[in-house]
Amino acid sequence: MGKQNSKLKPEEISDLVSVTKFDEHELQEWYKGFIKDCPSGKLTIEEFQTIYANFFPQGDATKFAAHVFRTFDSNADNAIDFREFICALSVTSRGKLDEKLKWAFSMYDCDGNGRISKEEMLDIVRAIYKMVGAVMKMPDDESTPEKRTDKIFQQMDKNSDGDITIDEFVEGAKNDPSIVRLLQCTPGGGASG
Ligand code: CA
Repeated sequence: MGKQNSKLKPEEISDLVSVTKFDEHELQEWYKGFIKDCPSGKLTIEEFQTIYANFFPQGDATKFAAHVFRTFDSNADNAIDFREFICALSVTSRGKLDEKLKWAFSMYDCDGNGRISKEEMLDIVRAIYKMVGAVMKMPDDESTPEKRTDKIFQQMDKNSDGDITIDEFVEGAKNDPSIVRLLQCTPGGGASG
C-alpha cells in the first residue's frame, strides 16, 4: 500500500553494498529504474516475461523467462523484489566465472536436488531454442534441442550416470565456451551493462 520510496534506505544500502558488487551510487540508480518500471516494488512473472518478450521479439521467450524468474526468486514467493533482482544481476553481470556457473546451474537444476537430469537440461535448451532458435544458425549436430542436450551430456556427464553435478557442470563449461554463451541469454549477460 502507498507509494514506494524512490530511494533506498541507509540500512538497505549497507546491506546491498556488502552482498553485491555494486556501489551505493549504482544501487540507487538501479533502484530508481526498478521502481519506475515496477512501482509496486515486486516484479511478477508476467511482467518479467514481458521484459523478455521485448528483448527477443522474434522468438517465444515465455518459458525461458519463467526459468530465469525462478532463479531470481530466491525465496520462491512468486515475486522478485529489488534485493533479489540486484543480487542476481550482480552475479550474472559482475560475478566471477565460478559464481556465474553456479547461478546457471541453479537455473538448469529445476527441482533443486543438486543434479541436472537430462529432462531438466532438455527443458531449458528447448526454452532457449524457442527464444533464439529462429534467428541463430545452429551447427548440424546442435540443430534440435534433443541433439544439443545429448551433446552437452556427452561433454559434461563425465561418469555417464545420467545426471550432471555442479562439479561436472563447472568443469564442462570451462572446457566449452558455448555453454557459457548460453548465459548471455540472462539479464546482465548481454551487451548492456
Ligand atoms: Ca521473491
